[in-house]
Amino acid sequence: MAYKITDKCVACGTCADACPVGAISAGDIYSINPDSCVDCGTCAGVCPQEAIVPGE
Ligand code: SF4
Repeated sequence: MAYKITDKCVACGTCADACPVGAISAGDIYSINPDSCVDCGTCAGVCPQEAIVPGE
């Protein structure tokens, strides 16, 4: 399952720059395209808000 971005997101953009497959899109809250995400966890590791969680 793809990772998910929760409402703790402050739209800083750190995760989008870190994602190796470009799965993260900008917005009021950033979002992860589940069809592109390869479940690597890089984004969760770099998020300063701890807003990114593994999918169930
Ligand atoms: Fe990108 Fe990896 Fe995060 Fe998926 S888990 S959105 S592939 S950085």
